[in-house]
Amino acid sequence: MSQLAKCVYRFGRDASGFDVTEGSASMNALLGGKGANLAEMCRIGLPVPPGFTVSCSVCTKFTKGELGWSDIEDDVWSALSDLEERMGKKLGDSSDPLLVSVRSGAPISMPGMMDTILNLGMNDQSVLGIIDQTQNERFGWDSYRRFIQMFSNVVMGIDSDLFENILTKKKLKRGVKDDSQLCVEDLKDVVARFKEIFEEQVDAQVHPEVLVDGKVSFPQDPRLQLQLAIRAVFASWNNSRARLYRKRNEISDDLGTAVNVQAMVFGNKGNTSATGVAFTRNPANGDKAFYGDFLINAQGEDVVAGIRNTQSLDELSGIEEFKHVSKELEEIFVLLENHYRDMCDIEYTIEQGKLWMLQTRVGKRTAQAALKIAMDMCEEGLISKHEAIMRVDPTQIDQLLHPQINPDAQIDVLCRGLNASPGAAVGEVVFSSDDAVAKAAEGIPCILVRWETNPDDLKGMIAAQGILTSHGGKTSHAAVIARGMGKPCVCGCEALKIDAASKTVKVKGTCVEIHEGDIVSIDGTDGIVVLGQVDLIQPKVCGDLETFLSWADDVRHDEKLGHTIGVRVNADNPQDAQLALEFGAEAIGLCRTEHMFLGKRKQIIQNFILGESDDVKEQALSDLLKVQIDDFYQMFKIMDGKDVIVRLLDPPLHEFVDDPRELAVEIARLETEGAEEEIIKKKTARLHVIDALSEVNPMLGLRGCRLAIVHPELLDMQVYALAGAMARLIKDGFDPHPEIMIPLVSIDQELKLLRERCEKIIAQVEAEFGVALSIPIGTMIELPRACVCSADIAQHADFFSFGTNDLTQTTFGFSRDDVESAFVPTYLRQGFLQKNPFETLDKGVNELIKLAISGGRSTKPGLTVGVCGETGGDPASINTFYADQVSYVSCSPYRVPIARLSAAQAKLRSLDK
Ligand code: PEP
Ligand code: MG
Repeated sequence: MSQLAKCVYRFGRDASGFDVTEGSASMNALLGGKGANLAEMCRIGLPVPPGFTVSCSVCTKFTKGELGWSDIEDDVWSALSDLEERMGKKLGDSSDPLLVSVRSGAPISMPGMMDTILNLGMNDQSVLGIIDQTQNERFGWDSYRRFIQMFSNVVMGIDSDLFENILTKKKLKRGVKDDSQLCVEDLKDVVARFKEIFEEQVDAQVHPEVLVDGKVSFPQDPRLQLQLAIRAVFASWNNSRARLYRKRNEISDDLGTAVNVQAMVFGNKGNTSATGVAFTRNPANGDKAFYGDFLINAQGEDVVAGIRNTQSLDELSGIEEFKHVSKELEEIFVLLENHYRDMCDIEYTIEQGKLWMLQTRVGKRTAQAALKIAMDMCEEGLISKHEAIMRVDPTQIDQLLHPQINPDAQIDVLCRGLNASPGAAVGEVVFSSDDAVAKAAEGIPCILVRWETNPDDLKGMIAAQGILTSHGGKTSHAAVIARGMGKPCVCGCEALKIDAASKTVKVKGTCVEIHEGDIVSIDGTDGIVVLGQVDLIQPKVCGDLETFLSWADDVRHDEKLGHTIGVRVNADNPQDAQLALEFGAEAIGLCRTEHMFLGKRKQIIQNFILGESDDVKEQALSDLLKVQIDDFYQMFKIMDGKDVIVRLLDPPLHEFVDDPRELAVEIARLETEGAEEEIIKKKTARLHVIDALSEVNPMLGLRGCRLAIVHPELLDMQVYALAGAMARLIKDGFDPHPEIMIPLVSIDQELKLLRERCEKIIAQVEAEFGVALSIPIGTMIELPRACVCSADIAQHADFFSFGTNDLTQTTFGFSRDDVESAFVPTYLRQGFLQKNPFETLDKGVNELIKLAISGGRSTKPGLTVGVCGETGGDPASINTFYADQVSYVSCSPYRVPIARLSAAQAKLRSLDK
């Protein structure tokens, strides 16, 4: 490794108390979050057990096969020797051994996804040394059995249950509940059994390094233990749950994890020792209060694993032995929060009354907490308003709009647990992650009910609507992961007696027995469980969220900070328009008029398409006109004073008619049944008309502006309805602002012709009603030719709006109705695509957009250009659109708050550049 970059970084003090830390918080990419923050805590003088970090870049190179153990071992051994010297102890020594923890730590936190090994250095000799030093035989054997179990599982992949079963049997035999009640002899016996399992389970051919005299044997050499552990942590970067977590959270596979090797401190050295996790503020609701759990006489992962029920941090100061530690912890919380200027998540251990900090990082939080913490910290003067805006992930806002139990609903609470992750969910009970995945595949909402979840449950948690556990605290795996995902979760619901094998759960204190498939409702905001389905409601944008979004709007509209970017909504009915206004939409960016022809109205448009005579067609048009005038009247009234962009009919006409296959079957049936010839003839004629309408590639066929060119009477009807509704509203004292948008234009002459036709109809309505109507006429830009020829098209357009759905379809040549299920998942898996281009704007499509904007504005400087495809509500795409100088984005109502925040963040980000 000598010719390679430095790969190992020390942290903590030396034997004379001098800080030898080499890293810092700014070295996150190299040292991972855990390593960088351990170094930072050392720098600010906090009590951190010394150690060293092997960098993430080593992991990346290891994974790619560019480095092997021999390339780094000299550096690792010299860091170990240095640590031994600093501690005045030798790893695995037989009289006073140094023991270490070996933990993963990626640049972006992936809680519980990778591996950790504690008590490394334990062997048949050092266990005696530990006993000698601590005068605590129980502690020595308990530490050894824990190490064998973790090492065997993490490094050798042996199923943990094999070890747990032995412990359970032992406890049953002794008639005790907790591991801590087992005596020395029991634990010695457990250690012996654990070693036998190791010998039985490890394949000698795969692991020749653990052979002694040709027989598999639990490794006694501490350096071999360390080597194998470091390699296992590197390998855990690519375990299936870590890969799934990265995919879901859009974390690059190239980051790698660091390995932190740190002197062990023990929270299980009796009743003056403890281990805990804490947050400097409440991560569930953002309250400014210290928050956490601890366990007395327990080690490391016990708190998170939910093996024993924890005590709340508030109780720590009430325990005589921990009074001073509680005070010290509180001082550290304040110090860390001021230092990081954010809410921190902390892991600590108290060893015989002495506090040690094992980890800190900026803590994960729910959307509600993120919002409150950002706003409170801004008010406290800890961060600026702009920083506060950047602190909330726009996709998290979605959680605040999650359903809640209708407060007016009559509910019978079956049992209560901890309110671990907010929001309510209803679904069928399932007891395993595989069952949750299977239900999701059938489209059946489900609630994953578990004693406690573990990292292997990630897929089930993704598939389920909500998570309910009978065990574990608010920092348990289920709680942490559910909060990160924005999934409702009730945890630690102790009344539930779950029998996963028989797929039933009994509820203590009741005669209720729930079976797989029964419906339950959970509310993670209040921590309640209800049998059966409850009524859920969608929350409104109010309170903190409303204030916060108004801060974001101030930034968006502040011209001193850069160009403004609007947020509009795609809405085609009055209810959506109303909802969008409540969510803060400034205008309607896209009203798809074909959506107004659904339901009963489908019959009217069918009469137009399939009408046998001109009279029938004319009648259909006049019926359509009536309903359209009313639709437009209602929409423009709700949006009084605000722009409403109405897009003329876009889809191919065959979408409105019956399925020809069904009609053919019906005709065949009528023929066999000997139905009247006249009826059969009529149906057959109808089938021929429908057949004649069908196209091989309807998405590339007679739709959009082409439809208006072939059937101008449809355009006339729509424009007449729109202008007529506007004229009436003006007469009724309102201030309507409709605009007309022509879809799927590729040739400037198409737009020229249709514009002239629109203007003629508008003039006719002006004359009829005696009012002047100003109605801008623009076009959608959704075809590559339109982008390339945008300068010509702009001559006839008052505005452009990018239809990125069609533009993506036609740029890639990907059928938008087929490819997302057909092969986009494969392309994503194989890395050809980083994101689904129908969700997040693709680079190639963006090149066309930039070309179109510059062409359009070369003809008409200052031309308004919007985006109304799906990408208009996607945070990453909004960032790109801001850089492209887009005037506004338009998206579905529920994404409007997300877009408001994303657009403000895009603007602030552009200031940093
Ligand atoms: C688009 O193509 O992006 C668009 C908004 O139109 P539609 O989805 O209705 O084709
Ligand atoms: Mg389109």
